[in-house]
Amino acid sequence: MADNDKDFEITIVGGGTAGWMTAALLSRLFTRGYKIRLIESDQIGTISVGEATIPAIRIFNQMAGIDEAEMIRETQATFKLGIEFDGWRRPGHSYIHGFGTIGQDLLWLHAHQFWLAQQRAGKVKPLDAYAINCVAARMNRFAQPDMRDPDSPLAGIDYAYHFDALRFAAFLRKRAEAQGVERIEGKIDHVELRAADGFVESVRLEDGRSFGGDLFVDCSGMRALLIGQALGVGFEDWSRWLLCDRALAVPCENAPILTPYTRSTAHAWGWQWRIPLQHRLGNGMVYSSAHVSDDEAASRLLAGLDGTPLKDPLPVRFKPGRRERAWEKNVVAIGLSSGFLEPLESTSIHLIQTGIFRLIALFPDRNFMTSDREEYNRQSAFEYADVRDFLIAHYKVTRRDDSDFWNYLRTMDVPESLSQRLALFAESARFFQHGKAELFREESWVQVLLGQGLDANPDPMVDLIPPAERQAFLNDIEEVIADCASRMLGHADFIARIRKPPATT
Ligand code: FAD
Repeated sequence: MADNDKDFEITIVGGGTAGWMTAALLSRLFTRGYKIRLIESDQIGTISVGEATIPAIRIFNQMAGIDEAEMIRETQATFKLGIEFDGWRRPGHSYIHGFGTIGQDLLWLHAHQFWLAQQRAGKVKPLDAYAINCVAARMNRFAQPDMRDPDSPLAGIDYAYHFDALRFAAFLRKRAEAQGVERIEGKIDHVELRAADGFVESVRLEDGRSFGGDLFVDCSGMRALLIGQALGVGFEDWSRWLLCDRALAVPCENAPILTPYTRSTAHAWGWQWRIPLQHRLGNGMVYSSAHVSDDEAASRLLAGLDGTPLKDPLPVRFKPGRRERAWEKNVVAIGLSSGFLEPLESTSIHLIQTGIFRLIALFPDRNFMTSDREEYNRQSAFEYADVRDFLIAHYKVTRRDDSDFWNYLRTMDVPESLSQRLALFAESARFFQHGKAELFREESWVQVLLGQGLDANPDPMVDLIPPAERQAFLNDIEEVIADCASRMLGHADFIARIRKPPATT
């Protein structure tokens, strides 16, 4: 694919999750005619958080040739069926955003329409009870999707992973190096730009070594060494809608129960995560520094752990938003250098993945066509705004009125793209997808908007079905799903079975 005799050189700056995911995939695809190197600094290290994913990670793994069982073993991973949102609608309330389907359709109407209609008559359980992922999650059970019978709830399961971020990067590094990626350790202290066009020519390390490249992938994290510092691409700040700007992360001893879901617990000024791994529990607090002090956030975090902390909390500061252009000249920013959205729906690793896929689809030659770059930036901007809207919806649609933080969020103006969506949903609980590039499907929006407590009318069509029939339909769904989930293996047992080394003959 390279366009002359000299190898096309790709220099990846940074060896966190973004850097090694990029290296692992590009080195699988771009073999002859390409030279790939990755520079990382042990002195700086990585952000070392980012342990929860969404189901599309399985596509990345498949593309990267990763064996699931091997990954589960090496990264101490667990399965993730969804996220429990505790206290987000109001203190004491909880719902799960599960990745799978909600019941099934009848007469073109989705199950949540029946649920809404019957809810008015006070005849339903929480929406969770009609969604296979949520029911299995609450029972601490797990199964993989089984498509043999499309009418079985097992066909509607979808899942992701929780994994140890450092182990995941190390796991990918091993693969990338085996596929020919050259790893260079050292701290970059200077970026040389080409006089003629301002493209990045080379990066120089503290020890004086210098490395060039045709394409540079900036995976340097929040430092944004190339895209921000060297090329000066600005940052679009979204902190008027997303108030949280700090986090504290602390691992603690093993989870007492290996839950197949992430828990997010809302506080008066932010929220706390709980991510169960096989060997430890990941915990953290995300908060607004304008509404709580670091000390108070830390003491709330430490007071609410399920086990003994293994370290002091690690502080992280961030600004929500995105890089105005993810691709500038010969630099493509992937990972935290391209933007940051709080990990409420575990979307950052996904944005790394789509950044890599997009780069592959629009891969440049030495001429660096403007159209490739513009298309990359257009898609990236859409994707960030799409995820942003979904996150904002969690804050806007709430009944919490117990703090300045929630009062501001509940009453703020939101981006028009979101306010239209909320208005349409309130009218008839219908969701209109704005194209395939949208990350979250209807099931996700439905569970979050109804879980957060949005008052929505059902689709008027559902009134054409007699109430007794609607109720019978929902009762069937509930019964079949509960029965199906009760036959699944316990989550911990499922992992133990996968961990067993293959039998030797
Ligand atoms: P980093 O991990 O920071 O890596 C940067 C790399 O660049 C490092 O190797 C560093 O050494 C190198 N580098 C920097 N400067 C130089 C230099 N001068 N010279 C040489 N090398 C340099 N995402 C999710 O999907 N799910 C989650 O649950 C989740 N939770 C999160 C929780 C918190 C509190 C935060 C802050 C983020 C979370 N994220 C989550 C985001 C996730 O952590 C990141 O998307 C992911 O780790 C990728 O980071 P990165 O590789 O871009 O940056």
